[in-house]
Amino acid sequence: MNANKNISRRKLTVQGQVQGIGFRPYVFRLAGKHKLTGFVFNYTEGVIIEIQGETDDILTFVDDLKNAHKENALIKINSLEVENIPSVSNENSFEIKQSKSDGSITAEITADIATCKDCLRELFDKSDFRYRYPFINCTNCGPRYSIIKTIPYDRPNTTMSSFKMCDKCRQQYENVTDRRFHAQPVACPDCGPKIYLCDSTGKIIEDDCDKVISKIVQFLKDGKIAAIKGLGGFHLACDAENDNAVKELRSRKMRDAKPFAMMAEIEKIKRFAIVSEHEEKILQSIESPILLLAKKEPNTIAPSVAKGVSALGFMLPYAPLHHLIFAEKKFNALVMTSGNISDEPLICKDNEAVAKLGTIADIFLMHNREIYRQVDDSIVQIIADKPAMLRRARGFVPQPINFKNPSSAAIFAAGSDLKNTFCFVKQNRFIVSEHIGDMEDSSVYKHWLSSIEHLKKLIDVDPKVVACDIHPRYFSSQYARKLKADVIVEVQHHWAHIASVLAENNVSEKVIGLVADGTGYGTDGAIWGCECLIASLDRFERFDHLPYYPLAGGDLASKETIRPLLGLMKKHNFAIPQNLLDEIEPDLKKRQTIELQIDKNVNTVQTSSLGRLFDAAAALCGLGSYNHFEAQLPMALQAIADTQNHQTYKPDVFSLLVGIINDRMKGVEPKVISSKFHNTIKEFFLNFARNARMQTGINTVAISGGVFCNTFLSERLIEGLQKNDFHVLFNRLLPANDGCVSLGQAAIAAYVSAKH
Ligand code: ZN
Ligand code: ZN
Ligand code: FE
Repeated sequence: MNANKNISRRKLTVQGQVQGIGFRPYVFRLAGKHKLTGFVFNYTEGVIIEIQGETDDILTFVDDLKNAHKENALIKINSLEVENIPSVSNENSFEIKQSKSDGSITAEITADIATCKDCLRELFDKSDFRYRYPFINCTNCGPRYSIIKTIPYDRPNTTMSSFKMCDKCRQQYENVTDRRFHAQPVACPDCGPKIYLCDSTGKIIEDDCDKVISKIVQFLKDGKIAAIKGLGGFHLACDAENDNAVKELRSRKMRDAKPFAMMAEIEKIKRFAIVSEHEEKILQSIESPILLLAKKEPNTIAPSVAKGVSALGFMLPYAPLHHLIFAEKKFNALVMTSGNISDEPLICKDNEAVAKLGTIADIFLMHNREIYRQVDDSIVQIIADKPAMLRRARGFVPQPINFKNPSSAAIFAAGSDLKNTFCFVKQNRFIVSEHIGDMEDSSVYKHWLSSIEHLKKLIDVDPKVVACDIHPRYFSSQYARKLKADVIVEVQHHWAHIASVLAENNVSEKVIGLVADGTGYGTDGAIWGCECLIASLDRFERFDHLPYYPLAGGDLASKETIRPLLGLMKKHNFAIPQNLLDEIEPDLKKRQTIELQIDKNVNTVQTSSLGRLFDAAAALCGLGSYNHFEAQLPMALQAIADTQNHQTYKPDVFSLLVGIINDRMKGVEPKVISSKFHNTIKEFFLNFARNARMQTGINTVAISGGVFCNTFLSERLIEGLQKNDFHVLFNRLLPANDGCVSLGQAAIAAYVSAKH
């Protein structure tokens, strides 16, 4: 080196998502560009870089590094520390050093990522040797979490182990300057996985790649139903503009009402839905989630795709196979719904797909790259101009939530029995599993058990602190209580909801917690659901709640709206006109039995559930009397709400319900009643918050709970709270529904165990 020049040396400590995604090769190339010497290596918390050269070059290197995410969207730098250190002599090059800690760390396993722009260009470039290859990928994109069997993340530990890399692929894999350097799933038509078509019995009927694509497209165009094996599991697909095909899919899947998600290219989505610039970015993000978008009216999407909702769920093609299908330009949008039977786990294995989906699909588009972990599509919606998760899985898991953890113990949190996720904690990383589902289905429970074992191995933790719900009968809690742990922390459901908001936002102070939920077991044995808590991560108290009402009928209580309605009627002592009662439940005997159950307190619980109040209101509005799927009627009530209406009823339960009944009898339009109902619920919560602030002086409000997935309510409440000068926190990284409960349990367990 020239001694006249101003030579110095720096040590850079980088934390964030910087491992297993081509960060070190990126640093290597950057060092070369700025003529710097030194080295880079992974350590347990991130990456360490030492660079030496002219000070000006070092400064521009650091500036470039800060913008690394512009080169590679997977890179997320959370912190970058720069330290001056003495320069060394006899250093002539920049190297990537192997580190001992490689493989024993969590940060290197990343999520499954949508096909990147470079791969997409190559996919349709005739001169590229991966032209039209359905498994093209690189360090910036492709499968990760779904194909890893165990750590460290190396090809032999993935489902790619059965494919031997050809020379061309290996050259790229070993070349540090190549985009495919250490891209474990790298493959090409010569050496990698292949696609083929099977009939509904699993017999291969076509295995020429181009013919497979043109045939499947023709099948779909002809109104047939296809099972398509993708990145994280099977989809059931049909032409979304063909109502007969969609109806047929519904009847074969025995799914009578729940909206289907769709896949389409961006220009087509804009035909069917309103897409803002911000929403377009979310659709095109590397995570490529399903995004709920406001319908354009009229549109040509088959009516059976999504009835009784105001939004359509769309995602872009995110795997090369999807791009090949859409490039044929034979249809505008496909229904792409999870390949499973009713509430069972998503299917990802070929033989299981044929066995279980053979009666649904006319044809199977298969491939021979095994999916080791099924990962559902993630669902996102916009709340108050920002994305909020509705279902967190593909693209996001196992990205950790970083939260300052006061405990050194590893933690396992079992989550809720509904919309289950579970959570492992290692240092400051809270790793929440993908959406697992509802535990009452025994196949979901089995899947849950194996998922816990798998993630535990990947993260390499052996938790001695365990957290679960206080519910006496939750399957998740019963399992957790049996684990050999030093400490078991049982957490009230709604406290966990609020704690998840705190953890996500990296806040540990005491807050006012507003919860709008279906059900959660309360510390008094009642079923809570509409709560105002004063909560931090080590304690909570219940400040206020919706007055308890009796709810008869166990599981049926969340399906048949007559049950909460009669409970509310008896509690608040109002009359429901005969014709309304007959409309909601014509069977007089049944109504009398329910009333008797309530009077005699048989199979009846006390509840403050807000979800059931929504059910009752929806029924009074004439929207139906039975939830065929969870929250069907509350969603229908939200869908019709008139956004221009800001009237409210008097904010107490009696006046609210009597007001709705009177309006209905007067012939007021349901859309007006619905908005008045929503606005009144908002007032309930505003009153909770104002009273709590008056008594405690706390000004930060955290909101959570499944009912807040209702954007009409949550957006109005957030706005109302902000107008009242509250600082508002809510779930974004995790769903406000029970998908967030495991994170909250884990954060509370971290605080409680730190005290032990
Ligand atoms: Zn790529
Ligand atoms: Zn190859
Ligand atoms: Fe909940």
